[in-house]
Amino acid sequence: MHDLTRCVHHPVVDEEGYASLAVPTHRASTIVYPDGASFMARKHRGFDGYTYGLHGTPTTRTLEAQLTELHGGVRTVLVPSGQAAVTIVMLSVLMPGDKVLIPDHAYPPVRSFCADYLEPRGIAYGVYDPMIGAGIADLIDETVKLVWVESPGSNTMEVQDVPAIVAAAKAKAKGVLVGCDNTWATPLIFKPLAHGADFACEALTKYVGGHSDLLLGSITVKDLVLRQKMKEILRGFGIGVSPDECQLALRGLETMGIRVAHMGRISEDFARRLMGHPTVERVLHPALPSCPGHEIWKRDMGRSSGLFSLVLKPVDEAAMSAALSALRVFAIGASWGGTRSLVAPQAVAQDRTATAWTDRGPLLRISIGLEDPDELWADLGGLFAVLAQVPTSQAA
Ligand SMILES: *Cc1c(COP(=O)(O)O)cnc(C)c1O
Repeated sequence: MHDLTRCVHHPVVDEEGYASLAVPTHRASTIVYPDGASFMARKHRGFDGYTYGLHGTPTTRTLEAQLTELHGGVRTVLVPSGQAAVTIVMLSVLMPGDKVLIPDHAYPPVRSFCADYLEPRGIAYGVYDPMIGAGIADLIDETVKLVWVESPGSNTMEVQDVPAIVAAAKAKAKGVLVGCDNTWATPLIFKPLAHGADFACEALTKYVGGHSDLLLGSITVKDLVLRQKMKEILRGFGIGVSPDECQLALRGLETMGIRVAHMGRISEDFARRLMGHPTVERVLHPALPSCPGHEIWKRDMGRSSGLFSLVLKPVDEAAMSAALSALRVFAIGASWGGTRSLVAPQAVAQDRTATAWTDRGPLLRISIGLEDPDELWADLGGLFAVLAQVPTSQAA
């Protein structure tokens, strides 16, 4: 063999006796075939076979299979982000003339996608009160093909009655599909498919990745036809995921149980201790009776992850930003679910159309990480100390 050829052809080594606990990262664009006939017949390999790197390698299939088991589904489809998980479901279900219903507390880019992409293409959307429950039936006319739920809402934490919404959707003659953004709960706390939803979506970016260093989304279904529609859309758009990202998600998944359990305990503890704090108007945490949907949380979930929100007493922007700058342990930033605790002020009123948001104070979203809880608590104390110094005349 010529040296140039030798450079290109990797030698086959003995793998006998090699066994590792790590999931190998299989990268590929080209998939090679043992002979001409199998190449000609590659279409018959279907969505579960290997035909081209874009459509999956053993690394991506491992993550898909693991999420499928956790959700009690039949197949999982991976996409490059949590937002893509939402949009790919919508694109696979909705045709011009159809309508999707989304909750008023939806992850804001979902509403933007409906308004800026779907609506100009003849697909309507309606926004409903997240606490509507069985009342969703009144909004479901012949054009509605999909009801979207996000429980709890990732900023304002209302817990939705998913079983009641599913029952109303399935009671319609044609059977309306229900998709659930389950990112807050993860399949460890809530399994939407077991409650009748058709699509269980996760932003793997958050608790599965768990280290603020990857972007990935997943959609788990119990119906192969729904999987096929989503795979056809991805194929058409040329969208796939990187095996490196999937390998990181597989590693994150191994510690997710212990991370989420710890973060849930600390978030519940902090939420209780923050009730009645002089600078706090309301604490929005599903585990507190004051949170809309708390009884549903008790019935369907019973455990928490690490994300919750505070509605602060009114304070001007300068004081808010001075208070945030006083933080030494918490980082300031969006996204969440990583090892570092985060705070992010969120604007709510501008994103509400079906329900009124009357609080005048800012909403502060808190994501609990893995730092020492006492140090985190003291750090929040520093933030509140700055807010408490604001003269009341400014706090209007
Ligand atoms: C972050 C988030 C998303 C989007 O996930 P990305 O991977 O950042 O696109 C979707 N839904 C919820 C509830 C989220 O918190």
